[in-house]
Formats: sequence, structure tokens, C-alpha cells
Amino acid sequence: MSKSSLQCVLLAFPSVLASTGCDPGVAGGPAADASGGPLRVLATTGMIADVAARIAGPHARVEALMGPGVDPHLYKASEGDVRRLEAAVLVLYNGLNLEGKLGDILGKLARSKRVLALSDSVPRDRLRQPPEFAGHHDPHVWFDVALWKLTVGPIARALAALDPAHAADFERNAAELERDLADLDAWVERRVAEVPAGHRVLVTAHDAFGYFGRRYGIDVVALQGISTAAEAAIRDVERVVEVIVKRQVKAIFVESSVPRRTIESVVRACAARGHAVTIGGELFSDALGAAGTREGTYRGMVEHNVSAIVGALR
Ligand SMILES: [Zn+2]
Repeated sequence: MSKSSLQCVLLAFPSVLASTGCDPGVAGGPAADASGGPLRVLATTGMIADVAARIAGPHARVEALMGPGVDPHLYKASEGDVRRLEAAVLVLYNGLNLEGKLGDILGKLARSKRVLALSDSVPRDRLRQPPEFAGHHDPHVWFDVALWKLTVGPIARALAALDPAHAADFERNAAELERDLADLDAWVERRVAEVPAGHRVLVTAHDAFGYFGRRYGIDVVALQGISTAAEAAIRDVERVVEVIVKRQVKAIFVESSVPRRTIESVVRACAARGHAVTIGGELFSDALGAAGTREGTYRGMVEHNVSAIVGALR
């Protein structure tokens, strides 16, 4: 994505757009859905769609582009996806290159409708920039529940700008959701405290849990970098096995949106070194669980992960 189109993407409000080089003539989109029905909101990931649906209530139809088990780092839009994106009045995405292959499309859409990057709600100094990814921020902000709470206000304001008649509802729903997320954040902290400090090592397939580890005090060791685009190399397996054996880690985890073979190769390599490590369960990293299940919601997904991690490491 070019720098100028990125700026257009990041600026969601017409008052701001009018003062930039972005085309102010078409920015902002229609005030209501052209069909007269509820607003059509399209989010890239399930985590975003769940939060947006809570804020919108009955006043918008919120859908996620990517379903359960889908890896956003590798996701490419189909022709059908492009039509859905074009039909939406509001497009919500994570940003920080999580949706690495959708950058061009999001940039184009930002010229004709409201397109909001949620990671833009997080102050720059609270974004992780691991040294091994010089120049890139870690996009997995939703695993720090306190950071994810910061995205609620901007979503509510974007909805209110499109549907001012229901602004009070959006504000009330947003306040309720913020209380809910503060409560969830405190719950995660309490649960993680059940694990003795020396056992707080989380080994996963890709580096999705950096914000989680920083917020809740767990060392995170990943086979792959913050994107799943690069296959874990043999030396990465050796590096991770070294940590597991040295710190006597009991359990490691597979992820719903990453093939499990890399983690299985770590289990075998540890066994060859005489250290038994088990697979502690499956974590939802970059996608929610199936719709209609607890793990199909943001809160349920966080609770599942934390219960699996605490249960296996305690
Ligand atoms: Zn990821």
C-alpha cells in the first residue's frame, strides 16, 4: 500500500479527510445503507466483528470476512469478498499489516467509504516492536484485553457518524462493553496468577501472544515470527527445544489458524532429548471459534485460551 493511501485508510472521519490529500468528494460514504435496511458493516476478523456487533446492537448487520480457522496473514480476497467489501458502508480492519494481502483493496475502498484501522486506536508507544521485526509493529493487539478496549470508542463514533439517530444506543452499548472488557482483563490477570512464576512460559507456533505475555506476565516463545508467512526453520525448532528443556516446560500449544506439524516436530525433538512435553491444547490465535459456540465470541475465545494455558502450566 502506498503511504498516501494508507493515510486515507487511517483517517475515518470526513472532517479529518477534508483536510488531507485524500479525495474529500467521496470520502465518508452514504449516511445510511442504500437499501434502507440496517447499516452493513464488514470486519476482516471475527474478533473485530464480535466487538462491533456488540456496539451496533440491532442497528447494523455486522459480518466477518474471515471465518473460524482462517489465517489473516495469508488471506487473499475472493471476487465475492470484494463485492461484500464494496457493499458495506463501514469496513473495520486490524491494520499493522495483519491483513497483509488486503492492503491494496483496503486502500482503494478508503477513497469511497469509511474504512477504520482498529490498531490506530492504540497509542504508538503501547505497540510492540520486537527487535527481530525491526520496522514492523506486532499486529496481535487483541490479546491484551486492556488495549482491545481502546478500540471500542472509535467503533462507536464511526457508527454514530453513519447513523446519528442511534448514537445514544451506540454510546450505551460501548460503555457496557468497556465495563465487560475491564472485567475480563482483571479475570485474566487473576487466572494467570495461579501459575507459579517459574512456570510462566508459553510456547506456541507463531508469535501471536506477545501482547498477552507483556500484559499478564508470561514469557512467550514462538517458532515463527509475527506473521505465519515464513515457515519455521530447523534452527527455530532447535532454539525453542533448547528453551523447553532448559526451563522444563510441561506443555506447549497448537493454534487454530496455523498447521500443527511445526509444534509436533518440537514435541518429537524434546522427546529425543529425554524431556517429555505434551500438547496442552489448541489456542485460538488469529481467528475465533465456530459461530454459535463460546469460542465464537471474543470473550469466549480469551477465556478458552487462558483456561487452556493455566490448566496445562499450573
Ligand atoms: Zn498472527
